[in-house]
Amino acid sequence: MSRNFYSSNYLDRVSHLRNDMEWLSRKMTDATSRLLPVWQQHNLVVSGETVSAAALETRHIDDLRSEGVEPILLGLIDGRAYFTLDVSHIPDPHEHDVLAAAGLFEDLRKVGPYVGREEGNLLAYARGINYWHQRHRFCGVCSAPTRSEAAGHQRRCTDEACNASHFPRTDVACIMLVYDEERIIMGKAPRFQGRMQSVLAGFLEPGETLEDCVAREVFEEVGVQVTDVEYQHSQPWPFPASLMVGFRARALDTEITIDEKELLSAEWLSRAELKAITPESEVQLPRPDSIARRLIEEWLAEG
Ligand SMILES: [Zn+2]
Repeated sequence: MSRNFYSSNYLDRVSHLRNDMEWLSRKMTDATSRLLPVWQQHNLVVSGETVSAAALETRHIDDLRSEGVEPILLGLIDGRAYFTLDVSHIPDPHEHDVLAAAGLFEDLRKVGPYVGREEGNLLAYARGINYWHQRHRFCGVCSAPTRSEAAGHQRRCTDEACNASHFPRTDVACIMLVYDEERIIMGKAPRFQGRMQSVLAGFLEPGETLEDCVAREVFEEVGVQVTDVEYQHSQPWPFPASLMVGFRARALDTEITIDEKELLSAEWLSRAELKAITPESEVQLPRPDSIARRLIEEWLAEG
């Protein structure tokens, strides 16, 4: 099965080397290593007809880092080490000599569809892990400052008595195509842009299985009971920190009653209606780099 956008299989995350200080310092000073800076959740890219990651040499790390912010090892691609660094402290990065010469900081949520698959993953990973560091500077147990460890894949409380370790967080969200023979439920959430509609989605809660989450979210959002909940595939969605887990579920009843806090509208749309969508149509499909789009297109291709 092909992989979803923003997922990686070519990047070697070398988790066994994250505490090898000698190896890390060698890679950090290696002329072939690269640095992907992130500024206030924006990635440094070069934009043209397509968008590609702007990678700096790691010799710039010392000039770019602020106190207490450590570079993070993303991993290796063909032996070349990739690091990321949060440069959010720089007031205007487009006025900074090194950064401005390399590219522009863009929001991956906007430029994602124009980025190649491998780079899309690297940029998403860099953005996601920097976001986690930004939000975990203080210990959630005792509120003392924390510091980065394991090449940026862990933070530890600086209070010796507490010593709590904190690990990068991923929020699991289920996303589900609910079908009834030749039609599926498409909803419109308040955050959706323009005429876009999509399949339903919601966050997993503590104590739930993924299947429970699918059934609960569908019932809460549109009042429909489902069965035959089947896993399809998943997608990292670091906007800011989600993993989207994709399902199909069969509707047991078909009357839609929307939760107005969650959705503006929801309706059953047939395969024929969905296949007939053009850029002028009243309904538009989700963005092409999303798992939502893929769940819909896979279902459309079956009929
Ligand atoms: Zn603590």
